[in-house]
Amino acid sequence: MNRAALDDQLAAATDEQGARLRRGAELGLEPGETNHPKLAEAILKWQQQVLTGRVRPCGHLLPDAPQPAFVALWDPSRICCLACISRLPEPDQIEAHSCDLCRRYLRGQITPSVVQVGPVLLFVGVCPTCWNEMQAGKS
Ligand SMILES: [Zn+2]
Ligand SMILES: [Zn+2]
Repeated sequence: MNRAALDDQLAAATDEQGARLRRGAELGLEPGETNHPKLAEAILKWQQQVLTGRVRPCGHLLPDAPQPAFVALWDPSRICCLACISRLPEPDQIEAHSCDLCRRYLRGQITPSVVQVGPVLLFVGVCPTCWNEMQAGKS
């Protein structure tokens, strides 16, 4: 595939994820903001893991064919396409009640959220404090 076709496909995948994020109800998740410093840090760390080959893609995600992809921030070692989304790692009992940003354990208080990074939607569990910080930082 040539460079322009690759860029087109990447843009299309990014648009598709943007639309999916706006239809948050479909995912049953609150759209979050990537400008929270702890989230920005976690995303940067994840991107480094991608670059160093420590993130395992499902069999349908190919480097020369960008398409919408999904990652769970509580276990970012795997990335999946829409068809494989159910194979993302489920959070365990501790993880399901822990904030992915400040790592505090707050039973029953975690908001399941989703943020977009290009063609990737990242699932993230956020505690009330971090959630308020996230909303306050909204531009
Ligand atoms: Zn797949
Ligand atoms: Zn938190």
